[in-house]
Amino acid sequence: MSAFLIATKFAHDELGLSISEEASEIIHDLASAVVAKQTQSLQSEIDLLKDKIEALEKNQIKTCLICMENCAEYMWSSCMFFSSRPVAHVSVCQKCCLRISDGPYIERRCPICRATDGHWVRVDARA
Ligand SMILES: [Zn+2]
Ligand SMILES: [Zn+2]
Repeated sequence: MSAFLIATKFAHDELGLSISEEASEIIHDLASAVVAKQTQSLQSEIDLLKDKIEALEKNQIKTCLICMENCAEYMWSSCMFFSSRPVAHVSVCQKCCLRISDGPYIERRCPICRATDGHWVRVDARA
């Protein structure tokens, strides 16, 4: 069905009007504008949701990668130099962080990316 026929049918069925081709074009343009507007508002809703998801990911309390029991509260300080953009690998709990700090030097590294030459930094997961 052509846009003209759709518009004509819509005008006839919904509005009780018999319309000219010119009028149907106007209705068609209006309908397109409405669709474009809806798409735009959907897009901004999607953007808003994306922001929310990102915030949730940042704030989520992860589990310690070593003991898999406590909340991860510490990140390794040098991870951010391994990537073009800053990264924070919040990976271990306080207990495991202390254990690693007291352990052999070779084990003092990020359990996720294995970055060495750093130290544990406490992160408030709820900040
Ligand atoms: Zn732990
Ligand atoms: Zn890392």
